[in-house]
Amino acid sequence: MQVKIWLYDLAREQSPTATQLLERSRAAAANGYDAVGLYLEHRFAYPSTPWAHGDGILTPQMVRDLRAALPDGPRLIPFLNVLGHTEGFVRTRGGAHLAEGPARFSASICPSHPAAQQFARMLIADALEVFDDEWVHIGGDETWQLGQCPLCSVRAEKIGKDGLYAEHLGPLCHWLVERGRRPCLWGDMLLQHPHALDALPRETILFDWQYDRAPGETSRVFRERGFDVVCSPAVKSYHAPWLFLDQTRENVDLHRRDAADLGALGICVTSWECFGLSDYRSLLPVVYACGQRLADERDWTEAIRANSDDAYVEAAEILGATIPNRSEVLRRTGLDRFRFLFLLGQDPFALWRAWRGEVRGEIGPGIAADLARVDRILPDGHTLRRAWLVLDVALRWVQQVEQAAERYAVDPAESRAALQAGRMQLERLVPLAEEIAAEGGSSVDPVRIARVLDHVAGVIDNVPTGRGLQRAQPAFDELLRRDYVPGDQAGWGFAGPRT
Ligand SMILES: [Zn+2]
Repeated sequence: MQVKIWLYDLAREQSPTATQLLERSRAAAANGYDAVGLYLEHRFAYPSTPWAHGDGILTPQMVRDLRAALPDGPRLIPFLNVLGHTEGFVRTRGGAHLAEGPARFSASICPSHPAAQQFARMLIADALEVFDDEWVHIGGDETWQLGQCPLCSVRAEKIGKDGLYAEHLGPLCHWLVERGRRPCLWGDMLLQHPHALDALPRETILFDWQYDRAPGETSRVFRERGFDVVCSPAVKSYHAPWLFLDQTRENVDLHRRDAADLGALGICVTSWECFGLSDYRSLLPVVYACGQRLADERDWTEAIRANSDDAYVEAAEILGATIPNRSEVLRRTGLDRFRFLFLLGQDPFALWRAWRGEVRGEIGPGIAADLARVDRILPDGHTLRRAWLVLDVALRWVQQVEQAAERYAVDPAESRAALQAGRMQLERLVPLAEEIAAEGGSSVDPVRIARVLDHVAGVIDNVPTGRGLQRAQPAFDELLRRDYVPGDQAGWGFAGPRT
């Protein structure tokens, strides 16, 4: 029987309470999951790295207590990162010296650093102390920076990026096998650097994450090399305004189909990045539905309803499918995705620039009508009110900035008033961010929103105050820049060195 895992991303600013961890683990098991993967990065209080302990992180004692409270399962599998996705370590005093390339941009440890191997072993040894599961996942995904620094680039010329990867992770996998555990790695870099497979013990389990397609073709590469695989779909919320529901259902179903064909050892339903006004509470009914779907092929709608209610089922279709299906901008999945444009990039005018064309046309009124329907469906205080609020604020914000841009060429005072109305829309996000933070979600989002509100207030201050058109009135776009200085008509700040 395939092992069914829910991967719970704690690394993105999550601070779950012991009670939440217990309730969510039990709920996962009740919905068909055999294991919960606790995805840690720097958000675990490794005794070896006290310098990296942020507020609210998972502690070894919490894991021990959780383990003790779950004698009948589910299993608790630790997911560490010891090469790529170590941004929380290398951007912290105490870990910056380990960064691959310049630390400001680095998201990886330098595998050529003399302390890198020891650092990884310390993290793993700390995890082995508290996690008793046979499987120990040590990451290895998205190591795009391989070969970047002077030391690594010289070594890469001799042994290749495959060699750098293999020399760092191969010994760690063997070390885990010697300790009676099965090492697990993500598959993406091994597909790019297949020679590195030669360095891995056959006990290694490869997690083939394919969030946009079926895993059959890629997982088969690993199966043919004699490795066990775990097919890994995603609850596709991390790049969505709330969730891409159609794509989630399709992705999970494709993995279920191919995992059976491949004789996969398991399926790992990943859920990522509940920050930037995303929250687990509104997503968990879908996470649990995936477990039911995998366990007994239950109808999707029934599986979602099993952990929610009729209003959730109806509103989820609109927020997760109807609305994103209307909009190319809301469907974006790269670094220009909604959440970055709106909040994480710290410049909400970026959302206006990207979305104004759609909002002005037929798409804006269509989404407004969808949101009005959701508003009628959801009772006050319903968990999906959060996703509705984020989209409602975003749409009204873009409409107000658009109005400000239009009126600016006629009367700056009207433009200023529209921006003030837009800022008041953004203020509606403050209580939401505080509520999410209070229940164990991101505690950084309230700070992000405060800074965004400050930026918008600064822009409003820069709008000329007189009625009617002014002489040498700055272009509207100029006013929105963080480096705008009143009176600098030519925008010299923008021309200076930018790193
Ligand atoms: Zn390096």
